[in-house]
This record gives sequence, structure tokens and C-alpha cells, in this order.
Amino acid sequence: MRTSNYLISTLKENPVEASVDSHRLMLRAGMIRQIASGVYTWLPTGMRVLSKVTKIVREEMDRTGALEIAMPMVQPAELWKESGRYTKYGPELCRFKDRKQNEFALGPTHEEVVTDIARREIKTVRQLPLCLYQIQNKFRDEIRPRFGVMRGREFLMKDAYSFHITKESLNKTYKDMYDAYSRVFTRMGLEFRPVEADTGSIGGNHSHEFQALADAGEDIIAWSDGSSYAANIEMAEALAPNVERKAPTKELYEVATPGACSVEEAAKALGVEAEGVVKSLIVHGPKNEDGSYELVMLCLRGDHELNEVKAGKIDGIQDPLEFATDEEIVKFTGAAVGSLGPVGFKGRVIVDRTADKMSDFACGANKTGFHLMSVNWDRDVKGYEVFDIRNVVEGDPSPDGQGTLHLRRGIEVGQVFMLGTKYSEAMGATITDENGKSVPMIMGCYGIGVTRAIAAVIEQHHDDRGIVWPESIAPFSVAIVAIKSSKSEQVKETAEKLYEKLQSLGIDVLYDDRDERPGVMFADMELMGIPHIITIGDKSLKDGNIEYKLRRTGEREMLPLDTALETLLKKLGR
Ligand code: ATP
Ligand code: MG
Repeated sequence: MRTSNYLISTLKENPVEASVDSHRLMLRAGMIRQIASGVYTWLPTGMRVLSKVTKIVREEMDRTGALEIAMPMVQPAELWKESGRYTKYGPELCRFKDRKQNEFALGPTHEEVVTDIARREIKTVRQLPLCLYQIQNKFRDEIRPRFGVMRGREFLMKDAYSFHITKESLNKTYKDMYDAYSRVFTRMGLEFRPVEADTGSIGGNHSHEFQALADAGEDIIAWSDGSSYAANIEMAEALAPNVERKAPTKELYEVATPGACSVEEAAKALGVEAEGVVKSLIVHGPKNEDGSYELVMLCLRGDHELNEVKAGKIDGIQDPLEFATDEEIVKFTGAAVGSLGPVGFKGRVIVDRTADKMSDFACGANKTGFHLMSVNWDRDVKGYEVFDIRNVVEGDPSPDGQGTLHLRRGIEVGQVFMLGTKYSEAMGATITDENGKSVPMIMGCYGIGVTRAIAAVIEQHHDDRGIVWPESIAPFSVAIVAIKSSKSEQVKETAEKLYEKLQSLGIDVLYDDRDERPGVMFADMELMGIPHIITIGDKSLKDGNIEYKLRRTGEREMLPLDTALETLLKKLGR
């Protein structure tokens, strides 16, 4: 490709709307442009990377024996009603009507459509197992699209779905997909970790996420230094402290804490540490007939954080978790939000395992502007239940009993799920087993966020001059920068010759034949992250050399013209 025939859309300045490196660099390198919140056009440089990544994904999917299909983005609402997700999926599902008033949705994921295909096309167990995949745009009306294509509304996903007659067969495909995902992300140059994961709105009972390690990640993963245990913090179990609760030493008493609302303010007013305070949060329990909710109190040690996923899974609590409004709280307890506590609370009280081990603690008095001191479980609060409802913290023991937990940020680039029969049962995707009995097919589903994974690669591979692409997915492998070629026949001729040669060898090369200042040309090639940069100028040509630079390290080297091609090919691994 010649730059004169290409669209270089690099930006000199950092765009103000970009708060993370990958978003900033994708805009600056001319890979993407936003046309609406969370909706992007992929420009030629972006598209070249995208094509290379989809090629890797396709190769690895094909290698597992999965078959490629293309399902529509527009999906009839009936299918979503059949699975029960039409109402459950919430406002992220973009719904619309056609001119005949038929209801549709834009596909955020394709379990319904693929289950419909399976129930029509799979006739005998001999056709199983079957795994179908596609690489296709999804639309999710995300509440907070941000970080460019990392959390977009329209984004490219590779989604695969497998169908089985036995659990063992599902286990095998799950393992094959898990391995294929590891190969895909390794080939893309990502540093990643597979972690145990929650199944969220997709459903199922067993799942792993593939997390690319990066500070810009929205997820937190917990991993053990003493075993292979790794889990999304949503799932990581906080063990009960291995200690006996101390006996009460004092009688309970009340202290005025005017204006103290947060745990920190209350602890300060009471002269104690946050670890000595129990904080109380109120969430929705079962819905009453009049549409109101029963309220449930969740109690945690003051310095711990509630884990909403774990709490949402407790029977009798709304899942996804819903916090009570200030109005509901005042009506039920008679006290303002900052003064709540378990003593005398009229509803169900759920206590975290660590908070359960506390004694002589402080908490809100259920009386605005007051707290209680020297509160003790059982003596002052009866009938409470104990659950694991907090996030693990750095230094917690690993739930598998081996080692200590550490936390890191991650970007979820893929997830694999054992779905079971959730969709096949709801939608009647059945098959006759060997006993002649009609049974629902067992399913798995597997997603890769293709566009998000590209952003994740950039988060891990960049420097102050721009993107540093891994060779496997770089938009071009080699850049040829010809300096003042309009003024030098020799420069022009040498550059043209090298360009033609590399082209004929099938190497992706960008030949910068613009009549720009050398500084501008270099800056663009480096910003775009092209791994190998060749500079051809009069000065070095006089000595019979051309210059080579490795983008990743910045190392330069003079290559004698007669052996330059050979050396370059070696560097390219040819
Ligand atoms: P998240 O928790 O980040 O919202 P998810 O768990 O809902 O994602 P899945 O249903 O597992 O997403 O979708 C499969 C993959 O699609 C994810 O692992 C992720 O890489 C990608 N993905 C999901 N939502 C988005 C988005 N809004 N923008 C870009 N990629 C996304
Ligand atoms: Mg997911």
C-alpha cells in the first residue's frame, strides 16, 4: 500500500473525549471514529487490524470443528418471549417495531436464534455434538458506553453455541473452546488469565472469563499465589475468619453523632476505626402484592465492600440486587440512611461472615443522628443469618485453602458458559435419546469480544509514541519511509524496488511516498505501531545503506543495500 493511495487519518493532538490509552490511540492512529455514543466506524487502519484478528479467531474456531454461520442482527421478539428474556433482559435490549407493528430486537447475543435453528435442523443424536459460530455485530444499549470500543453499544463479537446429548460431550467441547480461546489470545499477543466467572443474564451453571490484565480494566480478578485459583471478584469466595468471636465486654450504649453519615464520619465521631463499625445497607426482598418490597438489611464490617452478585444470589433477595430508596428506608425504619443498624431492625438481617465474628462493635441506632457502641450479635441482635456477601480483599486466604489472594484489574475479552438446558427446555429444542425418550439438548455458549480485545491489546502494547502492535495483528508489518523522494531519483528507485519486492512476497507493507517532512512520516508510522520501519534517504544511500528500526525497542541498524532484503526477511521470520 502506498500512502498516496491510502487514508492516513492520524491526529496530532490527544482527543479530549478519550480517558484511556487504547481509546486515545485508536482515535489518534486513525483506526476508529465515533458516529454516535458507543457506535464507531472502523477506518482502513482499524479495519486491517480487525481483519487479522477475525482471521485468527476463525482459524482457531475452525480447528475445533465448529461450523461458521451468519445469524441476523434483527431478531423477532417472539423468540425472546419464548425464552423468557424479553422482559428480563431490561433496557439493554434495543426493541423496535416494523411497519406492520411486529416487534423486533437488535441481537445483543444469539442464544434464542441459535436454539430456534437447532430445534428445526437437528433431527437425530447422530448430528450431535454440533457447534455453530459466527463473527457478527451485536447491539447492547449500554447504560454507560465508554472507553471507545472497549464498552461500545455496537461491537463485534464471535459467538459460538454447542449442542449435546450428554454432559460429558458438553465438557469436552467446553474444554476445546477454552483451549481455542487461550490460543486466540496468545496469538494476539495478550497477557491474560482465565478466571471463574458469574453467568449473569446469559445463565447456566459453570463459566470462565478470559481477562486481559490491564489497569484500565473494569473488572477485578482475584488470584492465589499458592495455587492456580483465579476468579472474578464477583465470584471469589471470602472464607469465614478462622477465629472464635470474642465475648461481649460492655453493655450497649448510645452516642449522638450529628451529621455523621458515612462509615468514616461515624468512626471519627465515635473515636473508633472503620473495622470496629458494622455498616448496614438495605435492599429489596420479595415484592408485596401492592407493588412495594419487603426490605432486607445487609451488614458488613465498615471497611469491607458489598458484593452485589453474591448478595443477589441469596434466596428472597432481588436478583440483580436492588437498593432500597431513601424514602422506603425512612418509611420502614424511621431513621435516615446514615444511622441504620441491625439492633431492633424489623426485617430480615443478613450478616457477612467476617462481620459475624465482630464483638463490641459500633453501628447506627436506627435513630437519625445516633449510633450505638458495644453492640454484640446474639445478645443485642437475634435471628440474623450469616452469608458470604463481601468482596475479597488483598491478603484474604484463597478459598481453595492454598495461598493468599491478590487483586488485579482485567478487561473481559471472552467468556465461556455451560448453559445446560435453560434455552432448549424453554424453547422446546428436544431430541430423542437412545431410550426413545424426548429430552432437551444440553448447550454451551462461548463469546469473544473481538473489538474489545483489540483495545485490550493496545492497553498492553503502547508507549509514548503510540501503538506497538504485536506482529500477528499489526495493520502493516513493514513501513518504508522514503525521504525527499521527489528530489532524489536514487531514493525513489530504491524505495520502489524494495516495495515491489516485499509486495510480491505477500508482506503487508506501507510505503510512505508522501512529500512530507521526515519527522511527520516517522511520527505517523510509529503512532500506527508498524513493527518494522525502513528509512531510505540520500545520506545513508551514499554509504550503500538503508536504515532499519524496530518499533518495539527503538533499536536502529544500518543494512547494506545488497543484503538488506535478506536481513529484513529474517527479522520478519520469513
Ligand atoms: P460485560 O460484563 O463487560 O458487560 P458481558 O459479560 O455482558 O460483558 P458477554 O455476554 O459475556 O458480555 O459477551 C461476550 C463478550 O463480548 C465479552 O466477554 C466481551 O469481551 C464482549 N462485550 C460484551 N459487552 C461489550 C461491549 N459493550 N462492548 C464491547 N465488547 C463487549
Ligand atoms: Mg461476560
